[in-house]
Amino acid sequence: MKNIVLLGATGSIGDNVLSVIEQNKDSLNLYGIALNSNISKANQIINEHSPMFVYIEEANEILLEKSISEGSLSVLNGKAELKELLNDSNVDVIISAISGFAGLETTLMAAKTGKVILLANKESIVVAGDIILPLAKEYGSTIIPIDSEHNAIFQCLASEKNTNDVSKIIITASGGPFEGKKLLDLKDVTQKEALNHPNWDMGSKISIDSATLVNKCLELIEARYLFDLNEKYFELVIHPQSIIHSIVTYIDGSSLCHMSNPDMKVPISHALSDSNRLPINFLEIDFSSLELSFKNFPSDRKNLENIAREICNVGGSSGTIFNAANEIAVQDFLLNKIKFNDIYEVIYRTFDAITVSNNLNVEAIYEIDHQARMEAEKMVKSIT
Ligand code: NAD
Ligand code: MG
Repeated sequence: MKNIVLLGATGSIGDNVLSVIEQNKDSLNLYGIALNSNISKANQIINEHSPMFVYIEEANEILLEKSISEGSLSVLNGKAELKELLNDSNVDVIISAISGFAGLETTLMAAKTGKVILLANKESIVVAGDIILPLAKEYGSTIIPIDSEHNAIFQCLASEKNTNDVSKIIITASGGPFEGKKLLDLKDVTQKEALNHPNWDMGSKISIDSATLVNKCLELIEARYLFDLNEKYFELVIHPQSIIHSIVTYIDGSSLCHMSNPDMKVPISHALSDSNRLPINFLEIDFSSLELSFKNFPSDRKNLENIAREICNVGGSSGTIFNAANEIAVQDFLLNKIKFNDIYEVIYRTFDAITVSNNLNVEAIYEIDHQARMEAEKMVKSIT
């Protein structure tokens, strides 16, 4: 039996993880959960899965129905207790699925446990890949990506996850709800349109990132760290059907890809299976009617891609600046403060305004994140 701690249990990745656990009750057990504030969903999870521990960031645990006095559930008090839970010897797997920069703290904690970490929180790698990957190595933690593209790459690499014979990796992108549209056509798109992803049902932040294509840029940086390859190896390609999740081409001309209908339960179940495969309900690909198409990353978003490539090459605080600017821009778009295309402006201007520094420790990352957020807010004010 594998004991799982699910960080970000009430989110979209959380839903998919819980479904995989539900379908594999004889081998997977939900041991603990962490969430921000959605108490009604937490109650539902507790009633259905009976985890032993719950951590709530915005501490209104009084509303939890299953009382502590029942003895079956412990409500963790503060980050120190959450850290203890992650290090609990009964825990086998930690799933990092908190959204945004908020996931950094727990991903860092997880990296120091020596356990298996299923990584969804790409932002923590973008801002602190230089720290998290070496920490995981030092403490003997294993990071398995569950972002679908990275899990696809992971599955296509040879058994030792060796990249020596790789000549190129294609990271596919659906293109989001505005696939095929020019930037100029997006001036007046609404939040509802931007949130309406054609293939995936996800949290609001990553949905907007998919609509702007920032998500693919974050994923390029994530891939550069997870697979320890120069950005030149990676190509971003639009594939609107989201059937091929990424392609690895080897030096002998062989290309291996991972295919499934778009369903996060596929990469999650793979990552929980020790590469032995776990049974889940899935929609088969209908190969008789399958039409796959591929296009270049849009030329009017080349600036964005170039920034991501620069971040891959220069490292330091560049990823933190980019991520913070994007988080502020997405938040302010969702608050109706700026228009869709202003998201790019906020990112470009903030990225230009702050000088990149190197050799960062965790404290410096928090400081730079704060500084970049202030700068991005200033940009928002100058636009509106
Ligand atoms: P979501 O918004 O649906 O859920 C976020 C979860 O994080 C919630 O459970 C929320 O309570 C929790 N959370 C937020 N702030 C917190 C805090 N400070 N402390 C504790 N918990 C907190 O997001 P999501 O779509 O599930 O995405 C989660 C992560 O996975 C993101 O980094 C995203 O980029 C990545 N990801 C998501 C998908 C997807 O299909 N949704 C695919 C690939 C990668
Ligand atoms: Mg992805």
